[in-house]
Amino acid sequence: MKIQFWGAVRTVTGSRHLVMTENRKILLDCGLFQGHRQEANEKNQNFHFDPAEISSMILSHAHIDHSGNIPHLVRSGFQGNIHATSATLDLCSVMLRDSAHIQEKDAEYVNKKHARKGLPLVEPLYTTEDARQSLNSFVGYGYNRWFFVANGVKAIFREAGHILGSAQVLLEVNENGRQTRLLFTGDLGRKHIPILRDPFQVEEIDYLIIESTYGGRYHAPVTEVKNELAAVVSRTVARGGKIIVPAFSVGRTQELVYYLHELFNEKKIPEIPIFVDSPLSVNVTEVFRLHPECYDAETEDLFLRHNEDPFGFERLQYIRKVEESKQLNNHKGSCIIISASGMCEAGRILHHLKNNIENPANTILIVGYMAQNTLGRKLVERWKKVKIFGEQYDLRSEVVVMNAFSAHADRRELLDYISHLNLTRLKGIYLVHGEEDQIEALKDGIQELGYQRVYIPVEGEIYDLT
Ligand SMILES: [Zn+2]
Ligand SMILES: [Zn+2]
Repeated sequence: MKIQFWGAVRTVTGSRHLVMTENRKILLDCGLFQGHRQEANEKNQNFHFDPAEISSMILSHAHIDHSGNIPHLVRSGFQGNIHATSATLDLCSVMLRDSAHIQEKDAEYVNKKHARKGLPLVEPLYTTEDARQSLNSFVGYGYNRWFFVANGVKAIFREAGHILGSAQVLLEVNENGRQTRLLFTGDLGRKHIPILRDPFQVEEIDYLIIESTYGGRYHAPVTEVKNELAAVVSRTVARGGKIIVPAFSVGRTQELVYYLHELFNEKKIPEIPIFVDSPLSVNVTEVFRLHPECYDAETEDLFLRHNEDPFGFERLQYIRKVEESKQLNNHKGSCIIISASGMCEAGRILHHLKNNIENPANTILIVGYMAQNTLGRKLVERWKKVKIFGEQYDLRSEVVVMNAFSAHADRRELLDYISHLNLTRLKGIYLVHGEEDQIEALKDGIQELGYQRVYIPVEGEIYDLT
């Protein structure tokens, strides 16, 4: 068996790894690259392998940097099954169409410019119709059930504790009388984050592909999140400001709503309205309600015993219509606006930032990972001026970065996970899904644990797993 790394190598987005047995090719994830438009386009358009030759695909979770290139894969000739958890399947049915819509809008925007300059027009990477068609290829499973992938290859999904439906993929390959177990962690979550169960600790494997987003950083404990959140809300309300939260529609939005629900109940924050301004978040929250099999005990308890819906309490308003979203600009007094997209590259969040960023009473609350070259990253780095819709704005509002919100394991948690593997059996660790400094830091950390066979693949690199 061999593995070839095609995405999320020495970077975070575009997760794509190709497992090759003697006569089968299996793709792990098919994510979208995000960042500079031209570079991202180039990487998203070219697979460097023939999609028709892939016999099946396994998807770790629904985030677009892992699933977002699936419609393009299917349109380019892939005919196999896409194995995912049932919750991932349902999330993808909402998210891939949304992603297609963004691709279409993006192409429209570029074409307007091109038309003016007399340049050739571009096609979207894929269309809403491509996204819809690709859903035919999905097959959904529960956690902890072995399923058939290809001749001699079976797999099982283990809880990753990252977002709803997120899974670690454990592959068992039987070849030439030998059995090899390969674990792909996908994105690994944290213990004690709300709603989801903790990540499952796999122990017996031969090879590991593990993410390294925060390989060199420590998060504040999850338990501090609520207090910190309460402090930010109270402080901003005291100034008469608004709290603007760019958040991914999946995961962080529901978590945030869950915490705010608790804080209101405990009377730890003032009574102010909360708006979730993203049609996608509305749909995704419905998917959360549909999948109680993914809940941890506390959430299950809230739903069943107390008959409460932690995603839809009274001070919360979901906003679908554009007009209602625009009306938020005229909202007087403090409020919390949670809006997509997470990295501030597109979507309604841009309007809210534009309208609120220059007022020092307001707070921009960053609760997720911001990739290089995104507007979100510039906010994290507190640039004095930022460009929104082509115009310069002064960044005068407070910016708060809450890393404890992260749905990714930090250095301590990653190393803890690795130290619980059977290291005498393990033949190699491959580090993916991290920027250079984080990935190098994680490598050092693992070697300090006394384990030396750690590799940082480059794009296209092939490793023999025998
Ligand atoms: Zn993810
Ligand atoms: Zn990811």
